[in-house]
Amino acid sequence: MIPSRPFYHYHPDLLTLETNVVNARPGGVLLAQSPFFPGGGGQLPDRGTIKWDGGETTVIGFELSGEGVWHLLASEDLDPAGSVEVSVDASFRQLMRELHTATHILNAVVFLNFNGALVTGAQMTAEGTARMDFDLPDADNGRLRAVELALNDAIRNDLAVSDAYIPLEDAHREYGLIRNRSVAPPPTTDGKIRIVEIAGLDRQACGGTHLGSTGSSPAIRIIKIDNKGRHNRRVYIGLQGRASQLK
Ligand SMILES: [Zn+2]
Repeated sequence: MIPSRPFYHYHPDLLTLETNVVNARPGGVLLAQSPFFPGGGGQLPDRGTIKWDGGETTVIGFELSGEGVWHLLASEDLDPAGSVEVSVDASFRQLMRELHTATHILNAVVFLNFNGALVTGAQMTAEGTARMDFDLPDADNGRLRAVELALNDAIRNDLAVSDAYIPLEDAHREYGLIRNRSVAPPPTTDGKIRIVEIAGLDRQACGGTHLGSTGSSPAIRIIKIDNKGRHNRRVYIGLQGRASQLK
């Protein structure tokens, strides 16, 4: 399982770490500490490397178990042991932070402009795009597309992004805080949940990684909107200069 207050929540900028192998099996290791985000809530898992005395390989995935997070290695024939240096791919993490922040901005603007419409799904891609599904029966797609202006206003206004752990019962009392059970992080063992706040715009439960402020985000473009059934609208966004169709 993911530790309820994982390293990347406290040190989102610390991407290289000396740590120790605490358990190993063919093609996988458990580490004492890990800077990797293992995926979840629509955000893709980090990529990176692990180096040890006598070898180096790529971390190709993660597997959550009762013992902790297994880091899966590119080969089963390697046996990292003892002290290791792990490194997260910084440019991939940065792209995920940008996309994740963009999905919060989109979520907030739709929530505010469409009567508290809820998210029913979210997925980011390695190509600088993301899609979000909203429960929006009867919404006019032209009006939905027009929120692009408000998305980029939020970037221009350079709003601070912060996070805090609050008691779960307080989170349930605050309107709109838990937008989507499937993307909200599990509560910690002491009954708290992580809230990510974009100052003056958005507060919601989330376990992912984000920018420190909206001003460092590339411009967000709405690429297209699909109707998915009678209730759902699927909104595709892309980051200007990141997504190939928006270069
Ligand atoms: Zn988030």
